[in-house]
Amino acid sequence: MTAVSANLYEILSARFPADSAKPGFLLSDGAALSYGDLAEGAAHAAGRLKAEGVRPGDRVGWCGAKSPEAIMLYLGVLKAGAAFLPLNAAYTAAELDYFITDAEPAVFVTDAAAWIAEARRCAPMVEAVPRQADDLAVLIYTSGTTGRSKGAMLSHGNLAANALALHAAWGFSETDVVLHALPIFHVHGLFVALHCALLSGAPMIWLPKFSDAEVLAGLPRATVMMGVPTFYTRLLALPEFTAERARNVRLFISGSAPLLPSTFAEFEARTGQRILERYGMSEAVIITTNPLDGERLPGSVGYPLPGVELRTGGDDEVGVIEIRGPSVFAGYWRMPEKTAEEFTADGFFITGDVGRRDPDGRVWISGRAKDLIISGGYNVYPKEIEGVLDELEDVEESAVIGVAHPDFGEGVVAVIIGRGDEAGIIAQARKSLAAYKAPKRVIFVGELPRNAMGKVEKKKLREQYATLFTPG
Ligand code: AMP
Repeated sequence: MTAVSANLYEILSARFPADSAKPGFLLSDGAALSYGDLAEGAAHAAGRLKAEGVRPGDRVGWCGAKSPEAIMLYLGVLKAGAAFLPLNAAYTAAELDYFITDAEPAVFVTDAAAWIAEARRCAPMVEAVPRQADDLAVLIYTSGTTGRSKGAMLSHGNLAANALALHAAWGFSETDVVLHALPIFHVHGLFVALHCALLSGAPMIWLPKFSDAEVLAGLPRATVMMGVPTFYTRLLALPEFTAERARNVRLFISGSAPLLPSTFAEFEARTGQRILERYGMSEAVIITTNPLDGERLPGSVGYPLPGVELRTGGDDEVGVIEIRGPSVFAGYWRMPEKTAEEFTADGFFITGDVGRRDPDGRVWISGRAKDLIISGGYNVYPKEIEGVLDELEDVEESAVIGVAHPDFGEGVVAVIIGRGDEAGIIAQARKSLAAYKAPKRVIFVGELPRNAMGKVEKKKLREQYATLFTPG
């Protein structure tokens, strides 16, 4: 007896609407792409990969603009049994070089539209290549605190389990319309938002990025919006964002960074709707969520999804969050030692986030174990930025911290011992760092505060500069 294929493409496409003319992507210019177009694009993409000699398990890299064709490529990669490697288009050449050397993709695509146009000349692949649940589906890089990025290996089984759990937990159906303004090189846009829409056969209002005008225009037609907290603060800053405009939306979801209780309250006051906050990470996609029907509490990330085991220090005690469950990744690409370090003997993944579970079972996240900065929903690891700054001629030493920022949640601040001027240091750092990672402010000091062991006391720096972006 042969095992049933667990290919994620088959699981998703089995739920595509019977009417293949139903739109999948509603584009800004008024055009639409149907589910039939999507399936056909994926079939040709898979056909082209096969024709180019890509074998099951090979990596296929993509780094480019958000487009429906990039999704055709993603689905084609799954269909061909290969593994998708999405990379942030903001990476510099030096950063990309590291990922390509590490992941060794067999094919690397930058212009998905052109690549798919060309693929249409190849014979489409009819049947998806059979895959087992633990075969690699996507390799997604998370930044490393040590400066080395780690490739989280997510399997077909990991992604299917999470997609099906979210589809059920958030009550998705074919009547939904998903407003999709997230990037697709990250789990939030690529898995959470996309898979929920695809499993529902629902159209997506497909925006290249969050733009005030396009989101305002799209909202009256949407039933679900997924966003990072910054999306919600940006909406609240717009007087045109009213209860009337949000009336058709049944669910506003937030994640990737903490949603401030003040944002939750302001949003409720403006629209009458309570944002549903959830918690996830590249290594496990979504872990906990506030309930669809029960009470959504500001400041809590809700309950573990069905099948997810979550523990902290103990009952109602703060500790590092550890998780086990069907969506938890298999490990880091070509880093068996790092992988072993981050799993407990009984198979729980040590998330590095600190939190507690209250007696009701709700999870509250209190911080990050390793000083991670989240700016605009993206992770910034201070050590990587310090590494770049310390290389500059004008910089003797640096300490990078995250400071509350009204737009980005946190803004990157570099406290340095050195010469030169602020703008010059930022400009030099930008040469090797994506914009979201580069310091927004540089502060010159005579010395850095240190503890008895000689370690820089970042807590003190964070306190000292806490109101840098939020004076008064
Ligand atoms: P990433 O791997 O880029 O998705 O980042 C994952 C990290 O984002 C988690 O480990 C958390 O530190 C943080 N995160 C995600 N969602 C939330 C949330 N709702 N509240 C607080 N932190 C979050």
